[in-house]
Order: sequence, then structure tokens, then C-alpha cells
Amino acid sequence: MGLKGNKLYSIFKGKCPVCHEGKVFKHKQVFHPSKFDVMEERCSECGHKYEIETGFFYGAMYVAYALTVAISVATFILTYLIYSETPYWVYIINILLVLVVLAPITFRGGRLIWMNFFSSYKPDAIEKYNA
Ligand SMILES: [Zn+2]
Repeated sequence: MGLKGNKLYSIFKGKCPVCHEGKVFKHKQVFHPSKFDVMEERCSECGHKYEIETGFFYGAMYVAYALTVAISVATFILTYLIYSETPYWVYIINILLVLVVLAPITFRGGRLIWMNFFSSYKPDAIEKYNA
């Protein structure tokens, strides 16, 4: 666990942005259509409330949008490299497919990155919560 304390650890592991121990999403199945978006209300380890204020996660949409643009550009470049002489609709279909398949990842990534903008790692958070 050498990366603990780094925001990337919280983002890629789906852990609480404050203690890096408690999980943020209830279910492990990232691609399950009705389970990927279910969040814990609070961190089970340090008690951090994930939705800091009402509507907090609206901002995560902007992060998810940025991820979507990055994925679209990457898909476009890959499509170009794989079949350089191809009609434009192949690009559109490829990008749409990739975005739909990766939607749960952009959703979770958007929320995790957004939470990490506003909360930072506190190594003593769990001790304080249990004290
Ligand atoms: Zn926590």
C-alpha cells in the first residue's frame, strides 16, 4: 500500500478521500447497470460524509464530461491509427460504443476525482473517529 496518502490511490481504488480505507461505492461490480452508481452515505472507517453538501455531486458531472472528452479523443486517434481510410460514421459508432461501455467508469471516476478536489488525506482520521 505504498501509494496510500496519494489522491490517485483514493481515485483508482475507489476509497474514501480522507482515510483511504472505507469504500465509496457499495458494490464491486463496476459494470452492473443498476449497481454501479450506488454510493455509501458515509465512510465506514472515518465517518466522512461523501456528499459534503446538497447537490455536491453536480460538480462531478463536469469532471465526468472532461473524462468523456479525453476518452473520445483517444478513441478517435485509435480508430484513425487502426483504419486510416474509413468513413466518418465508423468514428462516430466507435466513439459512442466506447463511451456507453465506459459510462460507469466515467461516472465513478468523476465523483472520486471531484471528492478528492475538496477533501484531502488525513492519516489520523480513523483514530479521531473511533476516539
Ligand atoms: Zn474515510
